[in-house]
Amino acid sequence: MITEEQYKEAIKIKEEAQKTINKYCIEINDRFEERMKTNPIFNKDELIFSAFQRCPCGAGLAYPKNCGFNHYWDCSDILMGKQDNQVKHTGILPFSTYEIKSETANITTRDKNA
Ligand SMILES: [Zn+2]
Repeated sequence: MITEEQYKEAIKIKEEAQKTINKYCIEINDRFEERMKTNPIFNKDELIFSAFQRCPCGAGLAYPKNCGFNHYWDCSDILMGKQDNQVKHTGILPFSTYEIKSETANITTRDKNA
């Protein structure tokens, strides 16, 4: 039988754990925001590509792995800093507005030699 004291202690531990989790998420997000300000160019291993959707330029859509829930899909060539500025690219596609399937091991818009 669990006593009320044990229950209250568990609640206290849970609340402390949630504070740590929240703090961790804020730190990860701050680090990501700083990265976007100082060096928004990513390599292919830092990106999640879409399974099917592509930018009008032909490159797959993608987003950085460490971004938050409020981020967006963008052209992977733009994210990797190798976009052709003579062709049209997608605008940013916020996660909250666009439901785009992420790549799997077998289905991806990732260039094999990108
Ligand atoms: Zn593009």
